Amino acid sequence: MPRRDDHKVLKAWPTPTGASLAFVGRPAPGLKPGRGVSRGQLLAVSKDPFSGDLRAPFSGSVASLAPGRIDLVHVEGMSGSPPAPVDLTDLFGPELAQTLKSLGADLPKPPPADEPLLISAVVPEPGLEITEALFSDQKPTLQRGLKILQKLFPGRKIMEVLPKNLSPLGENEVIRYKETFPLTLPSLVRRRVLGLAKPEADGIVGPAQLWALGSAARSGLPLTLIPITIQGFHYLAPQGLKLKNVLDAVNLKPMADDVVILGGQATGRPTARLERGLRASDQALTLIRRDKVAYQPGPCRLCGLCEKACPMNLPIRAISGKPMDSWHMHLPEAEKLLAGCAGCGACALACPAQRPLLLLALAAGASDPYGRRLAP
Ligand code: SF4
Ligand code: SF4
Repeated sequence: MPRRDDHKVLKAWPTPTGASLAFVGRPAPGLKPGRGVSRGQLLAVSKDPFSGDLRAPFSGSVASLAPGRIDLVHVEGMSGSPPAPVDLTDLFGPELAQTLKSLGADLPKPPPADEPLLISAVVPEPGLEITEALFSDQKPTLQRGLKILQKLFPGRKIMEVLPKNLSPLGENEVIRYKETFPLTLPSLVRRRVLGLAKPEADGIVGPAQLWALGSAARSGLPLTLIPITIQGFHYLAPQGLKLKNVLDAVNLKPMADDVVILGGQATGRPTARLERGLRASDQALTLIRRDKVAYQPGPCRLCGLCEKACPMNLPIRAISGKPMDSWHMHLPEAEKLLAGCAGCGACALACPAQRPLLLLALAAGASDPYGRRLAP
């Protein structure tokens, strides 16, 4: 277990055991249970134009292959087809994008043609504080990621949105951002900086994604690690680690009633699927003792704090104030009232009655503040 005083340092992950890797696309030809694979070997080609292909996070053997999922077990020295490094120096535009995608890097979604690309290094929400560690330990890799962005979007203006303690990565326009949560979530940063009417997560890149682009470009090798915060400590960990193995490795033993949260404190989602693999989009894993949650939603107190906290000034109380067992009947109305909802969860955090307002917002079709697909 790491010491408490080094929580800003990115740590290497101890030896992995197994991984469960989700993908949307087709498995690599010839892959089947029992087949040995090398670290970085292609496992699946993604059919999503912005998601990187799936690469083996470590050497091992294919334990099982199911539609959309590959399970691996770690076997030291197992060899399949080790990938050769690729030189990205002379690649530009679509060719560069395709090569990065094949190395496993997710591609940034471009902003509309006349809008700048934003790099946001503000902490998006409590629990997701890896930015500072990446800026202190991995700055050359972030700077290489910035160069990749410039090549992917030639001529496009890039702005850096930074808290006051971080220095810029390049020669871009810098916005010193002092807002607090929820205006620190990517879609709301973009809305505020560019004066947009609605939350917009396309065209904004966080340090973790920048790190991934820079890491693939520096080594020319497939991405196998993801920056992730686990119980407040920051790691570069193999992607796909099973949640139960992650908890074991950091000596966290969940008890029957404990809750595992993937993501930050506001928009993170509880999961009970501990066989599931860790993904870059999870950003963080936290175990919360049930007795610390004391989650007991009560009747609405008509205090209006949910509406006061809402960065979009939405009339959520019109629905949130109704009895919870009737919410499902009001979803069509909620969809209209909450159009433009940023899915930030600020209403839920503000509610003294602990009513699950983020769930209500998501059920009503809220957008995702990180631009993720709202998949289970
Ligand atoms: S999640 Fe809640 S606070 Fe955030 S925009 Fe939607 S209604 Fe407003
Ligand atoms: S914050 Fe909670 S208790 Fe207060 S009005 Fe909103 S839903 Fe009701």
